[in-house]
Amino acid sequence: MADSYDVIVIGGGPGGYVAAIRAAQLGKKTAVVERDKPGGRCLNYACIPAKTILHSAELYDHAKNGAALGIAAKDVTVDWKALGERRAKVSDTLASGVKMLWDKNKIEMIQGEGSLTEDADVAVGDTRYEAGTVVLATGSVALAIPGVEFSERVVDTWGAWSLPEQPRSIAVVGAGASGAEIASAYGRFGTEVTLIEMLDQILPAEDKDMARVVERAFKKQNITVSKGTPVESVEPGEKSVKVRFGETEVDVDYLCIAGGRAPDTEALNLDAAGVKTNDRGKIEVDDYRRTSNPKVYAIGDLVGRKALAHKASEEGVVAVEHAAGVETHPVDENLVAGATFCEPQVASVGITEAAAKEAGHDIKIGRLKLGGVGAAAVYDDRDGLVKLVVDSEYGEILGAHIVGNRACDMIPELVNTMALEGGYQELARIVHPHPTMSEAVLDAARDVDGWPIHA
Ligand SMILES: Cc1cc2nc3c(=O)[nH]c(=O)nc-3n(C[C@H](O)[C@H](O)[C@H](O)COP(=O)(O)OP(=O)(O)OC[C@H]3O[C@@H](n4cnc5c(N)ncnc54)[C@H](O)[C@@H]3O)c2cc1C
Repeated sequence: MADSYDVIVIGGGPGGYVAAIRAAQLGKKTAVVERDKPGGRCLNYACIPAKTILHSAELYDHAKNGAALGIAAKDVTVDWKALGERRAKVSDTLASGVKMLWDKNKIEMIQGEGSLTEDADVAVGDTRYEAGTVVLATGSVALAIPGVEFSERVVDTWGAWSLPEQPRSIAVVGAGASGAEIASAYGRFGTEVTLIEMLDQILPAEDKDMARVVERAFKKQNITVSKGTPVESVEPGEKSVKVRFGETEVDVDYLCIAGGRAPDTEALNLDAAGVKTNDRGKIEVDDYRRTSNPKVYAIGDLVGRKALAHKASEEGVVAVEHAAGVETHPVDENLVAGATFCEPQVASVGITEAAAKEAGHDIKIGRLKLGGVGAAAVYDDRDGLVKLVVDSEYGEILGAHIVGNRACDMIPELVNTMALEGGYQELARIVHPHPTMSEAVLDAARDVDGWPIHA
């Protein structure tokens, strides 16, 4: 046995790195086993690279279209190499920031692939490490679609965010958050984008009113949307790939499959330690993310319904607090906001109008178009909407949905209100600063009772 730790975390993504820091704060001798880089996929291959490039797409769009705002730029071009270098630099900066936090908290990073032993200790290569508690945080891997393999021309989301050249055309399969972000970035860079969704709504997890606003905006971004059309065939060639869906065939430079992901449990040796999974391969956990082996916790993309970095981080905090026996509270997945950074952004918490009706709630709706508030004119950000789904009887907010350029920064207010069990009535009486987009939230709350000021 090489060494022993109070807590060993396997996987250094937003779940694992946060779990490790919280464990160290609680006085636990902690190690993180990571086979790649600190920060995990989120920092190095997913959330952060995606948002970095999306930010450049936004800047390019503004620079090209700034004349109406009094900023006329000539010869605005995309420098693909510089874009890629900045993407890598942002990730590297954040990854070394995570490593610094680990060092500061005296957390050891064990480089290598970790797996569980029969005693639920941790093996890395030939070395075994004794653990009081193990936190599994190994995230998820991209799935292709049946009969199709990833290759040079058929890429996953990371492949799409790190293409060696700006493509003339790209098809994206799956119009969930990742697919919508990729389409919206490339479309604004001037690439011809085909976005293919097999369901009859883009952003299928979102309220349909939000999806409608985004779809309208996508039409102005070089994006052709195809809904209700599963992919029939994919034929990769040397320089392009043919994709057939419904009655249509396109021949594009690249195809990105942004369909689904599966928990990354292959190397973990779960069976040996008696850690059970469900029929979707996710690890079964209780409210505190403890697995069927009481010494082992699992967090992040390995568990639950949602695959989001901030969910992973909070689960990491709760798991190690629970293991340490300090007071904590379970993560309420219903209060984990979704955030999609396409243009316009979409953010939501709780349930959609359709889901509320299906669950039998007697509901009222509050709605405000962003164009109603002064800030929307100031920031040239009129195409958007705030929609609240509330329970008629007591005014509990069941769901809040925002589409607009600052939606992801606006949603925490609604998360807070819901978490603190405020109703729309309280929200309608909270003074919001002017001029901000948040005034649309205030008026959407007033709209539930029919007295929005700006509509
Ligand atoms: C393109 C894209 C964009 C996204 N954008 C967002 C976003 O904007 N906001 C958001 O909230 N979420 C976003 N997500 C989702 C988010 O990336 C995940 O929910 C998050 O990364 C999950 O964190 P995690 O800690 O569970 O695992 P990960 O971030 O996947 O990290 C797991 C780590 O474990 C390591 N590992 C795996 N197996 C082993 C092993 N056996 N031994 C040692 N190390 C191992 C891996 O190398 C990896 O570093 C996005 C996802 C994608 C694909």
